This record gives sequence, structure tokens and C-alpha cells, in this order.
Amino acid sequence: RAHLDRIADVDTDVRAFLHVSDRAIDTAEEIDRRRAAGEPLGELAGVPLAVKDVLVTTDMPSTSGSKILEGYMSPFDATVVARARAAGLVPLGKTNMDEFAMGSSTEHSAYGPTHNPWDLERIPGGSGGGSAAAVAAFEAPLALGSDTGGSIRQPAHVTGTVGVKPTYGGVSRYGAIALASSLDQVGPVTRTVLDSGLLHDVIGGHDHRDSTSLTDVWPSFAAAAREGANGEVLKGLKVGVITELPDSGFQPGVAASFHASLDLMQAHGAEIVEISAPHFEYGVAAYYLILPAEASSNLAKFDSVRFGLRVNRGGTVEDVMAATRDAGFGEEVKRRIILGTYALSAGYYDAYYGSAQKVRTLIQQDFASAFAQVDVIATPSAPTTAFKLGEKIDDPLQMYLNDLTTIPANLAGVPGISIPSGLAAEDGLPVGIQFLAPAREDARLYRVGAALE
Ligand code: GLN
Repeated sequence: RAHLDRIADVDTDVRAFLHVSDRAIDTAEEIDRRRAAGEPLGELAGVPLAVKDVLVTTDMPSTSGSKILEGYMSPFDATVVARARAAGLVPLGKTNMDEFAMGSSTEHSAYGPTHNPWDLERIPGGSGGGSAAAVAAFEAPLALGSDTGGSIRQPAHVTGTVGVKPTYGGVSRYGAIALASSLDQVGPVTRTVLDSGLLHDVIGGHDHRDSTSLTDVWPSFAAAAREGANGEVLKGLKVGVITELPDSGFQPGVAASFHASLDLMQAHGAEIVEISAPHFEYGVAAYYLILPAEASSNLAKFDSVRFGLRVNRGGTVEDVMAATRDAGFGEEVKRRIILGTYALSAGYYDAYYGSAQKVRTLIQQDFASAFAQVDVIATPSAPTTAFKLGEKIDDPLQMYLNDLTTIPANLAGVPGISIPSGLAAEDGLPVGIQFLAPAREDARLYRVGAALE
């Protein structure tokens, strides 16, 4: 009730939610009854959960921020939602996002932008700005996001929250409306590292419905966060800093906060090691070929027949499809579909998609040689603090550069965490520090994140 009251109080300004559940109180009361009956419930039983609208739910519409899916009701729950319900979490509502998770500011939502609770004239990050804003504004204690190139970590950075992109395959993508299937991962957005660990424990692990799901038995990430909390893990920890990411690429307050965190870690026994990752700088370029290519294929299913909107002004089936997609998709989605189909077309495939895949391999090799020398890599989570709504909306290339430091993890499939590192001196806005670990070493991120927190 406190969270629903908070939503009623602030969400007309913040606009984190696209839909608020009318079943949350009933579900919570049901949990209370089960608890009273002596049923052993998990640590998160009864805790409200905000769900990014990219994740399908049976009891609330799932639009992925698009008009083409307005009012769409899924016949099944995403695996992560089903697992959350089974653990007794209470879905509170669906959060706003850039359309089909394409963007860094939530301004590409077909339902209007979300506002950053720290300053309502600023962006909450994207694509999962709704989930991050809901958590930052105390409208929800926990949220789910999805991260294809930074959509969990960059919103966490600009809202002073914690966001985790798990190892690729660590969390099921079943029921996550696909953006780019080889990059997408679902993960937690919370106010503390321990909260993320608790939620990750609930949603993670093998799912036979996702063909890329890893069969690993994962350690408890909550336990890792609790282990890390006393800071001991920092003693002798080798922290890699990438030489090819000079301070000049970051807003001064972001760079200063990053160095303050490194100094703090060093003071507690960590060793800062310079490493080279020469191909990181090509990550954004490779990503903006691979992502549109995969997205153009994934979005082909919105054909006016199987899901959502149909605009029928007569003519052939193709005319109906074209009219539907023209009316249902926003500018950014159209831009990427055109880019993706072009990159995949005969005669250009090798030059664009093929080259991008080679760069992807080189970035994976950069990570492999870096992790032979260090335990974790640290970077600022994004180049700037929250910018003003409208500031970058007409400049797609500027928007794309927000993901400079987050994209490599998606291209390589490694896990990443963004935790708050302080406020930028020049504007008083939150800044995040990102840690990256080798694939399957998500627990290391929880230890280190909790130590620094
Ligand atoms: N901002 C990036 C993009 O626009 C990341 C999106 C995401 O992670 N879903 O593609």
C-alpha cells in the first residue's frame, strides 16, 4: 500500500509506470495468508516488484513501449516473472521504456518520456528508464530490466541505483520481447547490491524454454553480496583500468568520481592495473550493425496478423502490413529496421554484418587477455550524468555514444554491474561505476560491488 500510495503521489510527475496492477493488494494479502499458515517463503516474499514492459505478463498489458502492441495481453508470463511470482514477489506494474528497448533516454517510448526523479527536466536513462526511475523515486523497492547494450546499467548510473547485466545465458530470455537475441539479458535494478543479488537468485538459472540458457548451477548472489560487504575482498583485488578510455571522453565530474572510487579501492588494498582493450572503441560501431540486423529480423513478426495493431485501408496483405508498421512503429524503430535490413542485404552482408562480427570477436579477445591479468575491469558506467530531456533526441549518433562503456559486455556476453559512486561536482547528479567480470563470474561483481557500496 505504501508503494501504491507513493506511485499515486509522484508518478504523475515521474511517469515511471505504463500500467499499475490492480491485483497487487490481493496478491500481497494472499502472501500474508500463506505466511500465517506457516508456509516457508523466500526472503523476498511479499516484496513489490516493478516489471519492465519488455517482459510479458498475463495480468497486465505488455507493449514494449510501442503503439504496435498497445493493450496487448500475453497468454503466458515471462520466465523471470513466473519465477518472481513463485517466490512470492508482488508485481506492482509495468514500467516505461524506449520503444522495443531502442534508446538511452526513454524518450523513444510511444507513451511519452519518464522523468528523472533527481531532476524532472532530465532523462532517467534508457531504455529501462521507467524501472530505474521507479526504484530511485521509492515507487518500487525492486525492478526488472533488460540490457542489450546498457539499458539496465546506464539508467542505474543516471538515477543513483544499482543495475546488473548477468552473464549471457544466466537469466532466461523466454517472454522478454526480443530486441537483439545474441545481446539481450534480463537483470535486476535495485537500490542496493544485496537487493540485486536477492532478485538475481530468484530469476536466474537454467530454463529449458530459452535455447541459450546456461545449465550452470549458480552460487547465491545474495550470499556473495553479504560476503563482500565487509570490504575484505578488496585486499589484493586486481582492478583493470582501460588505457584506451582516457578521462577526456567523460564529463569531468564523472571522471573525478571514477578516480575517487579507484582511490578508495586502492586504500583498502586493491591494486589498480592498466590494461589495454584496443577494440573497445569499435564496440559502438559494431553494435549498431549487429543490433539493427537482429532487431529487423525479430520485429518482422509484427506483421498485422499475429500480434497487436492492424491498420487496414484496403489493398493487398502487403499494403495492410505496410500501413500497420508505418502507423505502429516510431522513428527510431524504423531507422534501425532500415539499417538492419540494409546491413543484411545481399552484396553488403560481408562488408557490414560480417565485419561487425569480426570486431565482436576482437572485443571478446580483448576481454580474454584483460582477464588473464585482472579480476575485474572498472569503467565509468556512462560518459555523462543525466542530460536534459530533448537535448539529444534529434541526434541519434550522440544518443548512441551513451553506451560506449556498456556495449562491450553485451558483445562479449560477460556480466556487468553499475553501482552509485557519488555525485558529480558540477551538477550534483548521480554517477555510477561499472565493474565487468569474466563470463559466469557474476558472483565476483556482487562481492566487489557490496564492498565498495
Ligand atoms: N541504448 C542502447 C540502444 O539504444 C541500449 C539498448 C538496450 O540495452 N536495450 O540500443
